[in-house]
Amino acid sequence: MNKVTELFGSMVFNEEVMRQRLSSACYQGWKTCIAEGRSLTIEIANEIANAMKDWAIEKGATHFTHWFQPMTGVTAEKHDSFITPREDGRVMMQFSGKELVRGEPDASSFPSGGLRATFEARGYTAWDPTAFAFIKDGSLCIPTVFCSYGGHALDKKTPLLRSLDELSRQAVRIMRLFGDTEVKRVTCQVGPEQEYFLIDKSVFNQREDLQLTGRTLFGAKPPKGQELEDHYFGAIKPRVAAYMAELDEELWKLGVLAKTKHNEVAPAQHELAPIYTDANTACDHNQLTMEVMKRVAGRHNMVCLLHEKPFAGVNGSGKHNNWSLSTDTGKNLFKPGSTPSQNARFLLFLAAFIKGVDEYQELIRCTVAIPGNDHRLGAQEAPPAIVSIFLGDELTAVVDSIIEGTEYIEQGKRMLHVGADVLPHIRQDNTDRNRTSPLAFTGNKFEFRMLGSSQSIAGPNVALNTIMAEELQQFADILEGAGDFEKALHQLLQKTFTDHKRIIFNGNGYEEAWVEEAQRRGLSNISCTADALKEYCTPRHVALFEKHGVYTAEEFQARSEIHFENYCKVTGIEAHTMVDMVKRDIYPAVCAFMTRVAETINSKRAAVAGIDCTLEQGLLERLTALSVEMMAACAQLEKDLGQVPHSSLGEEAHYYRYTIFQNMERLRAAADALESITGADYWPYPSYSDILYSVR
Ligand code: ADP
Ligand code: MG
Repeated sequence: MNKVTELFGSMVFNEEVMRQRLSSACYQGWKTCIAEGRSLTIEIANEIANAMKDWAIEKGATHFTHWFQPMTGVTAEKHDSFITPREDGRVMMQFSGKELVRGEPDASSFPSGGLRATFEARGYTAWDPTAFAFIKDGSLCIPTVFCSYGGHALDKKTPLLRSLDELSRQAVRIMRLFGDTEVKRVTCQVGPEQEYFLIDKSVFNQREDLQLTGRTLFGAKPPKGQELEDHYFGAIKPRVAAYMAELDEELWKLGVLAKTKHNEVAPAQHELAPIYTDANTACDHNQLTMEVMKRVAGRHNMVCLLHEKPFAGVNGSGKHNNWSLSTDTGKNLFKPGSTPSQNARFLLFLAAFIKGVDEYQELIRCTVAIPGNDHRLGAQEAPPAIVSIFLGDELTAVVDSIIEGTEYIEQGKRMLHVGADVLPHIRQDNTDRNRTSPLAFTGNKFEFRMLGSSQSIAGPNVALNTIMAEELQQFADILEGAGDFEKALHQLLQKTFTDHKRIIFNGNGYEEAWVEEAQRRGLSNISCTADALKEYCTPRHVALFEKHGVYTAEEFQARSEIHFENYCKVTGIEAHTMVDMVKRDIYPAVCAFMTRVAETINSKRAAVAGIDCTLEQGLLERLTALSVEMMAACAQLEKDLGQVPHSSLGEEAHYYRYTIFQNMERLRAAADALESITGADYWPYPSYSDILYSVR
């Protein structure tokens, strides 16, 4: 065994460790509970807890924590030590089954969207025995779900697990229709590619905006940005390479399948991709990845920025959510097969996906509606805010032939009959040929590219899974009752592709022409978070989630409120930070520089009577004019911040977007113009060049 294989998963209490450390009765009992979705008996829980504790102590852990994902989108933990007092005044290390399976964090300061207020005061956490415990920073972390006493999900994991169960139920029905009697479970597989920026800690420490909001609120365009595209896949600098090596190691210890790393388009931007895994694990692992990325950066005197748009004018960061479905017998249901039956099945899953995305475009758009993403989506660097699907030419030709009832002729060679013939070989689109598409079919999976870099992948996957479950259920209902299965399937595919073809778009999503074309097709185009969230908690979406047991109406309403509140709070903090920076740093700096220019004029004149001072005068006038504009915008922003309406969350968010944010842009424009004509020594903050090239 080499070092990596030994290291991998060494901090995870995984199946292998359980097999070694538990009695075979306990191990089998745990496996049965998982397979049948039952809760653990107290005997099993006690034995597991004890084994976990011994293992964790051997690895140097002293504490345990129930690790959960509240609706804030980050993870939360509360640490308790294993120590229990003994009668002789000493302590022993203990951890009971009760402590393992259930915890009661003081949940009052996690956002609940009114759920706890309405139902129960406290929440509890419960071990998700399908996810392995692991050791992080000397604590045994137990992945848990977080619920209110009324049983309402207060976290992101519970709905994800529910959506996975429902999707599996419906997909298994479809498998039966194709004569598969073996498959017991269909699992959603996810591989999230994570983008991030690395900057030196010294520049970070000098920027109030980066510290308080994670992005620069000011900053004139640098002389060199990403124009040369010399950073993309370029050689990795030694300091970054050292960071990446340590990051990989830390992630491997936690069992995260970190695989690919490279530089991204913008200077200082990088990407990490793991090997895909089941959606629940992928979600836990992505949270861990983001956390470890930040921590390891600190050890290297750097800061890892996960914000969607840390710098204006250079590319922002996203997350590509690669999504597919696979059976417990190892079949990928989005892989075009090699037999007629497999192909018919593939086309059915494809049709369900296309129909679902078309019918629930707004919902999908809403799952990526977070404040940071407003600076990316539709901005020529990220997918447009319009949801559409890229299928590629070959698959589109297959779909067209089904719609038209003609036979698909592959390069003039052979013809295709659905259910009776094999599909032509559809090449995997590994080349990322169309990076502009928000949802691209890439050979055997869909790549959902609208996610923001900082967001939890839970929400988007909950939506994709539930939508897919809905469509599969509709299809199963139709096909289970059909006399002639093949004929019914063909009709279903033809009707579905015909009705939902408008969502397929293989062209360039960055072009203005697409916006017009999408409008002609009747596709929705929601440009910002404040507008998107108005379309989120609609009766139609509530009905979808309720029908599939993923969210209750209250749970969904709560999430909508939390998203609205988050948007308002984030925008409010940014606006206040700008006002603070302008009044306390930028304006005083510009004043000092103006004084310097004025003094230059005076001293020049004193030295040589009648000397030409046009340059200095012009500069002074320009500085004055821009300062006047900046301070006017600042005063306006302050005034507007004092008049936020509180009538409804929708109205408040609208105000933040269309009044506050508008003024922030105006304020920034004036300040950035000043930065470009103020002496560098006077400017209070590191410039974009200083920041973007701070890691050498
Ligand atoms: P690239 O996009 O760089 O060409 P890949 O398409 O191979 O690379 O993989 C990108 C991400 O998609 C990786 O995280 C990978 O593990 C994941 N991935 C690959 N196949 C699947 C699949 N069937 N289901 C879900 N994710 C997948
Ligand atoms: Mg990709």
